[in-house]
Amino acid sequence: MITAQLPQAVFFCLTKMNDPQQTSLFNNEEFSPSDSGESTNWEKMSHDPNVPIPPGTYRNLEELTHHCHHCQRCDLAKTRTQVVVSRGSPHADVMIIGEAPGQSEDEQGLPFVGKSGQLLDKILASVELSLEEDVYISNMVKCRPPDNRTPIAKEIAACKSYLLEQIALVDPKIILFTGATALKGLTGEKKGITKIRGQWLQWQGRWAMAIFHPAYLLRNPSREKGKPKWLMWQDIQAVRNKLDQLREEEKTS
Ligand code: SF4
Repeated sequence: MITAQLPQAVFFCLTKMNDPQQTSLFNNEEFSPSDSGESTNWEKMSHDPNVPIPPGTYRNLEELTHHCHHCQRCDLAKTRTQVVVSRGSPHADVMIIGEAPGQSEDEQGLPFVGKSGQLLDKILASVELSLEEDVYISNMVKCRPPDNRTPIAKEIAACKSYLLEQIALVDPKIILFTGATALKGLTGEKKGITKIRGQWLQWQGRWAMAIFHPAYLLRNPSREKGKPKWLMWQDIQAVRNKLDQLREEEKTS
């Protein structure tokens, strides 16, 4: 196992989201979180992207998904066909976070369903990780950027609260960032993906690793030792081993 030298920003994020100091950053008087047991009043949710959605807003992923489908917090709402929230198990131990939906995802309303999604499914299946039980997939932003451009910082900031809520609700043991945008968008890590991939990080009390985006593997099909596909094979085996280890530790604790 290789432990990365993390930037300070990542270490400072090791606190859970129920940290009172962090929670106070999300105070929003116009909205009462739904932990009262009453159904959420969607009308009261802010469409202002500068007003983060308070942690604990959603009692479950269905509520979150419902709200995302009505979201107008950034301009990507104007050009999307469908909002793309997630696929996979809501009780997954592994959560994969990508960048943004592409054309196939926008059409089907599901993340990672195009060619790169099919490759990702094969990679997961190669180490017996299933979307029915082990894996939950989502993106930094839930709506497709026009022409598949990289989402801009404003869009990532507007959508980030949803992702933080998804992480809290799914509560995965391991988070995988596919590509640099997802890694930087959540952790602030600015190192290139080729430098940091395959290294275990600790982020918000969870094990995390950056891996190559499957689209990058499609552009680099060689399986030779040291090439991206070979490196991905090393990384996914490391993920499988870490998951087995964490599950074993949980059983014996
Ligand atoms: S990308 Fe996110 S914040 Fe922007 S409209 Fe879609 S769901 Fe809302």
